[in-house]
Amino acid sequence: MAISLDDPRKFRQLTGQAHQVAMNMLRPISRKYDAAEHAYPVELDMLAAMIDGLSESGAGEGAGAAGVRRESASSEQGGVRNGTNLASVMSIAEMCWGDVGLLLSMPRQGLGNSAIASVADDEQQARFAGVWAAMAITEPGTGSDSANISTTAVLDGDHYVINGEKIFVTSGDRADAVVVWATLDKSLGRAAIKSFVVPKGTPGMTVERLERKLGIKASDTATIRFEDCRVPADNLLGSPEVDTQQGFAGAMATFDNTRPLVASMAVGCARASLDLTRELLAEAGVSVDYDRPGINQSAAAARLLQMEADWEAAYLLMLQAAWMADNRQPNSLEASMAKAKAGRVGSDITLSCVQLAGSLGYSEAELLEKWARDSKILDIFEGTQQIQQLIVARRVLGLTSAELR
Ligand SMILES: Cc1cc2nc3c(=O)[nH]c(=O)nc-3n(C[C@H](O)[C@H](O)[C@H](O)COP(=O)(O)OP(=O)(O)OC[C@H]3O[C@@H](n4cnc5c(N)ncnc54)[C@H](O)[C@@H]3O)c2cc1C
Repeated sequence: MAISLDDPRKFRQLTGQAHQVAMNMLRPISRKYDAAEHAYPVELDMLAAMIDGLSESGAGEGAGAAGVRRESASSEQGGVRNGTNLASVMSIAEMCWGDVGLLLSMPRQGLGNSAIASVADDEQQARFAGVWAAMAITEPGTGSDSANISTTAVLDGDHYVINGEKIFVTSGDRADAVVVWATLDKSLGRAAIKSFVVPKGTPGMTVERLERKLGIKASDTATIRFEDCRVPADNLLGSPEVDTQQGFAGAMATFDNTRPLVASMAVGCARASLDLTRELLAEAGVSVDYDRPGINQSAAAARLLQMEADWEAAYLLMLQAAWMADNRQPNSLEASMAKAKAGRVGSDITLSCVQLAGSLGYSEAELLEKWARDSKILDIFEGTQQIQQLIVARRVLGLTSAELR
């Protein structure tokens, strides 16, 4: 199947609306919540209600979490589909042109929602519809090596009892529920890792503190302790069976979905920096001619052209990963490629734009310095740059995680 490089026409209205929201609702409050870390952006409630309304009417195809489901990856279907995953990455990129931290704070659009969309069975999809869910994988002793988690879940009657500590949980304080990764039996390795939906307020679940951070300050990042925290057994997402053949695939399917979304955040934030830098350069008398080689233009214009090319490559990889998901094609390799490229060039572009704009770029008079701070996390969470490269190398070389680490 061929990929058309044009933006799908049917999404132009959606991306246009997302751009308007970013410009008129997110940008005006961007600085306010960058300064007021941990304050809840109340303005988002109205926006979330609007998005819910659009989704219910069917008009706002996929403003947030969509599922990439490995079990249906091979199902045959005719034609080329541009569906929810493509709509999600394109609209999220537009929203992050407005503000990444605020996008991450949007009610009901959490990374845990993507986990539910990817792993939950039909009954669970229905039961958790409309629930705002954060995702808790990282622990004090486990970051990139997520197969090593120590949080435990032990079956006791018709409940699982969860014990452990999770750190750096995005929206961990504000969300309605947290999707927690825990092991049923550490001696059985990664196949025993399952995810559990733990509703906020469940006894034994305590938000201990919020982090102060370099960027995305509008987004809350929580440490959560689980002490004999009991959740109904049917809150385990997917199958409770420990299938050592399948290994980590169940829980990992979430990343096929979330990595393109994180790539789209980096694409959106970098686009914002490029657009503003081009305007500032024009005001300073430097125009960029897209029809002439960079080498024949000023150094600033040549750098901007180079960054535009990097951006375009990241954008296309993002589209590819989402498009494959819509067309039920396994996309783990492409999801990691998109995340690695967009995470890296996103940080590079936003910081280079600070450099090109000089003192104006560094000062709070413009948002360039904020975007450079905000974009760094997109090269870290949901798997760091180095981890994405490791995954790509393993898949290209046909090596297992034990063979290439
Ligand atoms: C603001 C913020 C929000 C977050 N939100 C969430 C969330 O919602 N849910 C959640 O579960 N987690 C979240 N995280 C955690 C995030 O996913 C982890 O920070 C990330 O996975 C890296 O883990 P680590 O910090 O332990 O670093 P480490 O794994 O200790 O890595 C440190 C460095 O070593 C490199 N490295 C590690 N292993 C290798 C290797 N094999 N080869 C080469 N280099 C390697 C890494 O790339 C990195 O540069 C968040 C973190 C932050 C800062």
